[in-house]
Amino acid sequence: MTKQELYTLLEENKQQFFDASDAIWDAPELSLSEHKATEIYEKMLAALGFEVTSGIAGMKTAFSGSYGSGKPVIGILGEYDALAYLSQAAGATEPCPLTEGAAGHGCGHNLLGMGSLAAAWAVKKYLEAKGPGSGTVIFYGCPGEEGGAGKAFMAREGMFYGLDAALCWHPGSVNEIFTGTNNTSMQVEYTFHGLSAHAAGNPHQGRSALDAVELMNLGVQFLREHMPRTDCLHYAITNAGGVSPNVVQPKATVLYMVRSNNVPNTKALLARVDNIAKGAALMTDTTISRRFIDGTADLVPNEPIEKALYANFLDAPAPVYTEEELAWAAEIKKTFPPMDHMPGKGATDDPAIRAKVAELTENGTRPMNDFVMPFYHSNTQSPGSTDVADVSWQTPTSQISAATWPSGIPGHSWQIVSAGKTSIAHKGMLYAAQVLAATAVDLLEDGSLRAAARAEFEKATAAGYICPIEPDAVPVPVEEMM
Ligand SMILES: [Zn+2]
Repeated sequence: MTKQELYTLLEENKQQFFDASDAIWDAPELSLSEHKATEIYEKMLAALGFEVTSGIAGMKTAFSGSYGSGKPVIGILGEYDALAYLSQAAGATEPCPLTEGAAGHGCGHNLLGMGSLAAAWAVKKYLEAKGPGSGTVIFYGCPGEEGGAGKAFMAREGMFYGLDAALCWHPGSVNEIFTGTNNTSMQVEYTFHGLSAHAAGNPHQGRSALDAVELMNLGVQFLREHMPRTDCLHYAITNAGGVSPNVVQPKATVLYMVRSNNVPNTKALLARVDNIAKGAALMTDTTISRRFIDGTADLVPNEPIEKALYANFLDAPAPVYTEEELAWAAEIKKTFPPMDHMPGKGATDDPAIRAKVAELTENGTRPMNDFVMPFYHSNTQSPGSTDVADVSWQTPTSQISAATWPSGIPGHSWQIVSAGKTSIAHKGMLYAAQVLAATAVDLLEDGSLRAAARAEFEKATAAGYICPIEPDAVPVPVEEMM
């Protein structure tokens, strides 16, 4: 099967994947509670002829679908969790929640998972045509990307070591290779336990858990001046102890996310935060319980696979937008101030690419970035985190971004939810599936590409993977912390 035939196969069979993506958009579920999505995927995988394994790595909403036999083995990663409080009507150009306070697909993961599944299915058709023993494709259903770090829990069990390569994509505003690395992150929940008492009548008998949370936060503010510039700390008070000021709050919880450039440094930073929590408990005569929630490693980029992805980006048929689609994108774009920077990592890091992107986007004014960004590879560190990183320590891994929403729109916004079922989103998802499928075929066919990817991977991961998830940690659904 030629690549052109692969692209056509996906084009002709796209509707089932669009429909399933829309169904997942219609039923947004928070991290590690993606039960409806899991049902949709597992049914679809079985119907498409994959061998399904459910409930992997101790998570009910983690699964895999495998097809084929023998080496090479190519993994394709999918995600399907939504974000809290982002409910929004599809296609609306103003904030318009469908259900006030409900979740919404503000990171496009309805598209992410289905684009990946479409790619895995096309690779399956390719392997089918070649016959038994020509290789294996595995689709991984990875829950909890927005919280819970499903892939890191899967990596804790060594699930990706057997692959020759893994591919992924993320919906975005640009068609670009994901390159560079990013921060490691760890989340820990601290719950303080005190004694309730009448705040006016018996204050001396009360011990305030809320005071402990406040003192812990104050201690962390002082820590900020004395940590490396690579480090950052974020927190959310998930239980402030209730709504009664006249009660000494007996229980309060704060969730911390700590980040640094690698796993050992993040562990060291977390140990300092742990000490501050202990200090706050001592100061307030309360006790503390600590629960490790999740962690993610720093991404290991892989230039040989990035180059293969790039060649296929240029080879596959890029989306062409209608006047109507462009007019809608322009309306959405107006809901944010004009862009003060050029989109894409290359444009951020490299002045020559920035100038080129300024030209291609007409200084960031075009509503859709309907072109492929210039090729750019780097090892520079982004501040955010992803659990794809944990896969990248176990097998050569690369990702792309495909344009599924208008230019200049930040992630995790109502605008992204609004875009998630549009024809623009569908076109971007199909394009991503075509690029991933073509690259998987390159990896299956081209031994020198696999060898180059492996050599770079071995060099970059010589220090060995340190799983950021603590050994006794269990996956915690985000709903449980709300
Ligand atoms: Zn995302």
